[in-house]
Amino acid sequence: MEDHILIRYGELSLKKSNRKQFTQRIQNHIKRALKVFSKLSFESRGMRFYIMLNDEDSKPIIDILQKIPGIYSFSVVSRCASNMDDIYFLAKKLVLNELKDDKNKTFKIETNRGDKSFPYTSIEITKMVGSYLFKNIEGLKADVHHPNFTLYLDVRHEGSFLFTKTFIGMGGFPAGSLGKTLLMISGGIDSVVAGYLTIKKGMSVDAIHFAAPPYTSPLAVQKVIDLLETITPYTEYQDINLYVVPFTEIQKSIYEYTQSDYCITIMRRMMYRISEQIAKRIGALALVNGENVGQVASQTLESIQTIEQVTSMPVIRPLAIFDKQDIVNIAMRIKTYDISILPYEDCCTVFVPKHPQIKPNLNYTIVEENKIDYKRMIEKAIADTERIVLRVNKHYDYLLNNQDKNKKQEIEELF
Ligand code: ATP
Ligand code: MG
Repeated sequence: MEDHILIRYGELSLKKSNRKQFTQRIQNHIKRALKVFSKLSFESRGMRFYIMLNDEDSKPIIDILQKIPGIYSFSVVSRCASNMDDIYFLAKKLVLNELKDDKNKTFKIETNRGDKSFPYTSIEITKMVGSYLFKNIEGLKADVHHPNFTLYLDVRHEGSFLFTKTFIGMGGFPAGSLGKTLLMISGGIDSVVAGYLTIKKGMSVDAIHFAAPPYTSPLAVQKVIDLLETITPYTEYQDINLYVVPFTEIQKSIYEYTQSDYCITIMRRMMYRISEQIAKRIGALALVNGENVGQVASQTLESIQTIEQVTSMPVIRPLAIFDKQDIVNIAMRIKTYDISILPYEDCCTVFVPKHPQIKPNLNYTIVEENKIDYKRMIEKAIADTERIVLRVNKHYDYLLNNQDKNKKQEIEELF
């Protein structure tokens, strides 16, 4: 009986001039993401978008829609002709369906009359459907303030759309609509969450990772790949390029020739320099990282200032002022947390000095880093950088193959 999915767009409705282009992008994204469900058909009407299920199961489709940026919410909807008899019939069916696991559920009705030529006002429709339901369903209870569920009636010219459930989407802007960024990704908890939030806001990401073999294991790179694969479905179902930079020579020279409490500051300046150069080559407009003010020595405001001085590119720090627990909560929700806490050494953790500077002096930093021939080493590291392409399809197949078949909700026909 649930035959449609109704999609509502999010904050892009604020940006009038780009609206059409944005909705087009989301629609294309939805169609691409749902390509394997061959029975579906699509229909766009103003600021709404409908997916006709044509007997496809809605459950796997719901999972995919929840990973598409720019969708504010969506509902699985049943449609009937816009006349009171058909609305009564369908309303009863939907309410009985809600009550089948708990007869004591309370409800209310909300009506929206899009078709102003319809002979009754929305208040009248609510009242009429309400009294029909009370007459025909024994023991039915209403609660206008805190109902267990709401029956929505959307009466339009092309038909009436009834539903009881609304799913919250990702919100944000359509994937990639605001340009490309380069995400500095470690195997830790934070940076992948920063990447997720960046994608959600409508930017696309390529990623850069600094590896220091043999001090860091190939498993550390694999971990970064696994993390990125977890967030690829949120992209426009396009591949993510991961640039793996060999960082061993630079790191070893830093630890050999510069004062130990400045090592981290200098190391991070090198990371920023390399990231900026790669970003420019690939057409990324900003760097993104998981820095969080105060979390570690290199993330005090003084450190950030001294480090950032090497780049003129905008640096986006989505997590700058988050509490750690809030970051962890997102990591758990997007299922990166369990990967992040696996114990493979990151290049930062291998060489950490005992007492890093929390207020590094800029002039002193420059004197120290000039002790090493970093320009040559950076050039070499960039020349030896390896690109790994993370194909979306792999994850996409995974998503489909891992639907728990037993949990597939049978859509129960009550009549
Ligand atoms: P995370 O949990 O993301 O590792 P963190 O709190 O451990 O963050 P740092 O290790 O100091 O903090 O790193 C700060 C940021 O620098 C990271 O969020 C990430 O964006 C970037 N970064 C750190 N290590 C690397 C690396 N090996 N390759 C690429 N970027 C890195
Ligand atoms: Mg880290």
